Amino acid sequence: MSLEFSPSSNIALLRESATIAVSQRAKALKAEGRAIIDLGAGEPDFDTPAFIREAGKAAIDAGHSHYTATEGILPLRAAVAEMAREYGPITSSLVAQDVVISNGSKQSLFNACFCLFGPGDEVLIPTPAWTSYYEMVQLARATPVVVMGDPANELKVTPAMLEAAATPRTRGVMLNSPCNPTGAVYSADELGELLALCHARGWWVIADEIYRRISFEHETPSALQVAPALDNLVVVDGVAKAYAMTGWRVGWSIAPRALTKAMTAFQSHATFHTASVSQYAALAALTRRGEADAAIVEMVAQYRARRDAALRVFAGVPSLPLIRPAGAFYFYFDVSAAFPGHPEAGSAFAARLLEEEGVAIVPGAAFRTPDWVRVSYASPEHDVVEGVTRAVRLWSDLKR
Ligand code: GLU
Repeated sequence: MSLEFSPSSNIALLRESATIAVSQRAKALKAEGRAIIDLGAGEPDFDTPAFIREAGKAAIDAGHSHYTATEGILPLRAAVAEMAREYGPITSSLVAQDVVISNGSKQSLFNACFCLFGPGDEVLIPTPAWTSYYEMVQLARATPVVVMGDPANELKVTPAMLEAAATPRTRGVMLNSPCNPTGAVYSADELGELLALCHARGWWVIADEIYRRISFEHETPSALQVAPALDNLVVVDGVAKAYAMTGWRVGWSIAPRALTKAMTAFQSHATFHTASVSQYAALAALTRRGEADAAIVEMVAQYRARRDAALRVFAGVPSLPLIRPAGAFYFYFDVSAAFPGHPEAGSAFAARLLEEEGVAIVPGAAFRTPDWVRVSYASPEHDVVEGVTRAVRLWSDLKR
């Protein structure tokens, strides 16, 4: 008997990751011989620093090729806890037992969403936000609630905006600073106020801090520094972005002990643990701080130079609504003037830019803001400047 696939109700609303799809489309076009400037992927173009690569090779030679604990190797969890303790005073008691190492920060976010939220729960998502937040909340069969950020304040949200979107079913909030896709950074005061509200209301906070080390103006505050308490807080981070280690797949969560146990149990059935060799490479990244910090400073300097070079191009079109990024490596801008009345101006613009100008970017619909587009500047400066020049030219031509 032949069987036709029909999706289970688990994935009734599931959509493929647009951020991943764009970069795969760009790669496919390149393979066909087209000259494509790929500003779609949010992936550092730098190689993983040499001392980390060496640690990975040494781990292979040392025979670290067996299963590890579900929650990751103890020294790595201890290193994460040690770094977190430096944020004190409320982090001073954090230990390895509060940490779960996962298959990239994406899995930590999924672990947290799946273990915290379920049918009937609503989760507030300051929007625009990374495409996978909405999908993860839906896969947990909870409801993502879009809380639109303020265009006059870099599309960030305030406590009043969260309050206005809340209902008795609100169970959690997803925070992300620096923000993917906008590059906006919440100040310590702004973040502290959001966290105070969430704590007072008994909402869980999942704080995604994967871009925190990529900050241009001043250090981005961690939720661990400004939260009134840790009992409703899950902080997620990883090595992918700051250490240029995307493919190694190492992320982690810091969370209250009972939740940590639940996430460990969940992960033990879903993926067990991330690659043993990757964990040892990440251990070098987190414990050889002098070398790691030097590498990060060097990469951040290059992101800043690219950002500033592209900002000089954007300066030629002051009427283009653009968020000036203070962190991460994305530009976010509103292209609706190029397609007045179009329900998905960002998608129409991105399609034209790819077909006519050979530049891959991500439509804002992926981040629930369809008038906007995201440009990644985690690419060589020449490509960034050329890609942004073409995007700005297309926008100027279309809006006439
Ligand atoms: N987070 C990156 C991005 O937004 C990498 C791809 C992904 O997992 O979404 O492009």
